[in-house]
Amino acid sequence: MSAKVYINGKFFAPDEAMISVFDHGLLYGDGVFEGLRIYNGKIFRLEQHIRRLYDSAKAIYLEIPMSPAEMIEACHETVRQSEFTDGYIRLVITRGAGTLGLGPERTKDPQTIIIVDKIKLYPQEFYDNGLEIITASTIRNHPTALSPRIKSLNYLNNIMAKIEASKAGCLEALMLNHKGEVSECTADNIFIVRDGKLLTPPTDAGILEGVTRDVVLELAREAGIPTFEKTMTRYDVYVADECFMTGTAAEVIGVVKVDDRKIGDGKPGPITRKLKELFEQHTMG
Ligand code: PMP
Repeated sequence: MSAKVYINGKFFAPDEAMISVFDHGLLYGDGVFEGLRIYNGKIFRLEQHIRRLYDSAKAIYLEIPMSPAEMIEACHETVRQSEFTDGYIRLVITRGAGTLGLGPERTKDPQTIIIVDKIKLYPQEFYDNGLEIITASTIRNHPTALSPRIKSLNYLNNIMAKIEASKAGCLEALMLNHKGEVSECTADNIFIVRDGKLLTPPTDAGILEGVTRDVVLELAREAGIPTFEKTMTRYDVYVADECFMTGTAAEVIGVVKVDDRKIGDGKPGPITRKLKELFEQHTMG
């Protein structure tokens, strides 16, 4: 069992996996990506991730040189070669190597990269006790500049927000949209609970439509928890009974302090814990 990298149909050990320094993915962040999980030997929500990948690519005029079915097979094959039964998959499509200069016509062949490796995002204590976050001053991409629905290689403003969090001694940051409404965290969607209702910002709040977010909304509905996609401000988060984040890597993790306001009683709340448990049962099949 070892990390494996697929590049354009060939398989490599991590140390041997190379792409050109002239790749526009590196030079200009010109490309798209996905992050997926392997649970119990199965790739979780693979079709949904592949659909988002192709939608992101279409939005930036990037033609992926293989069909979604071939991409799915390449993911399965990379996982098989890694022999991981639990792990993480990073799928990256770059515009490819070209001459210097922004224009995509300078590049020839998009590069398809699939990395299978292990991942553990946060130490267990944060799942038990919850995270403290701050609101970043860096806002999420304005949708008319670059839609946050596109999972592009342009993550710099999320990285800036992450740096703000780290300078404030936190692991994550809440990001607002250009209207000052809550959008999401730097690599996770956000949920709050108020009076037994589960609320999360809608797509047009400028979020990535998270796969985990979808799963959690489904699980909550099945469990009879009223769910709403609703525009919210920081005030709604401050006065929430519970708050948590969702993402492929982080899964479901409680947030217990936001901008130095304790959320609820300062511990991951009952609905957070219930949904975390339902999510774990769901991923374990
Ligand atoms: N928002 C952003 C900005 C992300 O990068 C991610 C992915 N890590 C998410 C939300 C969560 O999406 P998913 O549940 O599909 O991983």
